[in-house]
Amino acid sequence: MKNIIKNIKNKFILIPIFTFILSLSFLIFISYKNNSMDYKSYTLFQKDLLDKRISTVYITDNPKIRIKLKDGSIYETDNPRTPNIKQTLLENNILVSEDYPANSKQIYPGTLMLLSVISIIFMAVKNSEKVSKKTLPIDSLETTVVKDFNYTFENVAGNEEAKESVKDVVDFLKNPEKYTSYGARMPKGIMLYGQPGTGKTLLAKAVAGEANVPFYAVSGSDFIQIYVGVGASRIRQLFKKARNNSTGKAVIFIDEIDAIGKKRDGSNSSGGSDERDQTLNALLTEMSGFNEKKGIVVIAATNRLDMLDPALLRPGRFDRHIEITLPDISSRKKIIALHLNNKPVGNLNLHEWAQKTSYFSGAKIENLVNEAAIIACKENSRAIEDTHMDRAFSIILAGYEKKNRDYIKDTDKKITAYHEVGHALVSLKVLPNEKISKVTIIPSTNGVGGYTLSIPEDKLYENKDYLKKRIMILLGGRAAEEVIFGSNYITTGAHNDLQRSTHIAFNMITQYGMGETLGLLNMQELMKLNINQDKIIEECKKLIDSMYYHTKNIIIENRPYLKKITELLIEKETLYAKDLDNLKLISK
Ligand code: ADP
Ligand code: ZN
Repeated sequence: MKNIIKNIKNKFILIPIFTFILSLSFLIFISYKNNSMDYKSYTLFQKDLLDKRISTVYITDNPKIRIKLKDGSIYETDNPRTPNIKQTLLENNILVSEDYPANSKQIYPGTLMLLSVISIIFMAVKNSEKVSKKTLPIDSLETTVVKDFNYTFENVAGNEEAKESVKDVVDFLKNPEKYTSYGARMPKGIMLYGQPGTGKTLLAKAVAGEANVPFYAVSGSDFIQIYVGVGASRIRQLFKKARNNSTGKAVIFIDEIDAIGKKRDGSNSSGGSDERDQTLNALLTEMSGFNEKKGIVVIAATNRLDMLDPALLRPGRFDRHIEITLPDISSRKKIIALHLNNKPVGNLNLHEWAQKTSYFSGAKIENLVNEAAIIACKENSRAIEDTHMDRAFSIILAGYEKKNRDYIKDTDKKITAYHEVGHALVSLKVLPNEKISKVTIIPSTNGVGGYTLSIPEDKLYENKDYLKKRIMILLGGRAAEEVIFGSNYITTGAHNDLQRSTHIAFNMITQYGMGETLGLLNMQELMKLNINQDKIIEECKKLIDSMYYHTKNIIIENRPYLKKITELLIEKETLYAKDLDNLKLISK
């Protein structure tokens, strides 16, 4: 109750509430009194009649009649229900009413109560109007406009690929005319995706800072309101505000874009999604509305790209997608160094700390360094030393380990590394012309432990030999696990690989006419005849089994090489093409 009163902005509403309570209790009191009305027997009534003390009699259908005496007092007696009672009374000069006495005592509190209720409703409506109006104005929107341009790419350590991907946008913001004179269209929207704390906000700020334009930051969740339409109007106000700043240029940053841009699915098409659709549509309209010459760039961030409504990612909207990954060891070293920059540092072994912090995000590293600084400060130590970092590390891990298991054990790391190098090694051996651009054990957002990125050669057709080799590369991860750790210690890590290799094998045999069971027959056509599929499964299995046999042989033959690459991968966490080239020389 206290809270309710506190929440009521307009204190005057308390007056009608008070009068309402007062009149209500008065009415209850009166009706209680009425119910316990005096009662006299019929004979006593007849006596009053004879004595001519009665002024009015109220006769209704009730079993009781009421009698008002000349002195004003009222009592009840039994209704005789004789047809001529009214006549008798009238002949005795007594007023007869066929209604109960209008109790004047009830009229006043009744009216007062009615008035109170009306004014409470009136005031409450006015109040809520005021509240909703208050949320509407532009200034209520929590946009942090950064105008001191403190952030530059210097503040973003590591993330080189991402920085490279936004450099032209900075240049465009500096002189949009140059780009339009070449007829070049700049991306209106950039989508940064990656795990939390990897520096997406930081990168967006740096873009604004490098280009010297104001930075408007909002969060997608700011736009999801109880009142339908508020989100959409906020979007329009945000863009208006950005357009109308003195430079006319701006970076608009929308964090947690998934709050407004989540994929629409049938199941939650009710309720709040109406509001979300309106907000999303407003955003898309605003984005297609501003023209490229102006120099406004919208940067959005999300943890999950695959959750977003495809409408958001179409050309002309957020059409540049940049993944911000967790930092690898060399990036972590840079991030640690960066955050130690403004602090007194003792004899810290930076390399060791970069090694210890695998799978840490930039935010977590910042947190670690800050915690160490606090500990050093509490001890009045001259500088931050390894011991302070050690203690900070335990604090951070204890805090994070409960929440998620992003502190991955060394054995897991080793399994992931052998698995990934298995893919890479088989790829190097069977398709030497395909460039492996990256092998990493840093997990990406889609949840896999690591990945190997190879760039397929450009070609129009994929022949049977090539498809078999693709299957072998996919099986390379599992083969390495089995060869190194033994057949009892193979893991679930190959799940996706097996899905993909099965898919290729099945298509070879049933769609492309590359198998024996069906020969040149096409499965889709045969399906109409409801044929027996066991033989096809058998042949798929035979194909995969034989590919696996070859793959395992490659791994076994190159075991020392596999080990060497894996050791390097565990050390560096990410290997690029040039690292693999260097290793190739060693193996020969
Ligand atoms: P996100 O938006 O991806 O959740 P933030 O940009 O908010 O992450 O990062 C939070 C903080 O973590 C930053 O303010 C910064 O102190 C630190 N941080 C994250 N990544 C980096 C990086 N690459 N270099 C330096 N600091 C970083
Ligand atoms: Zn794999």
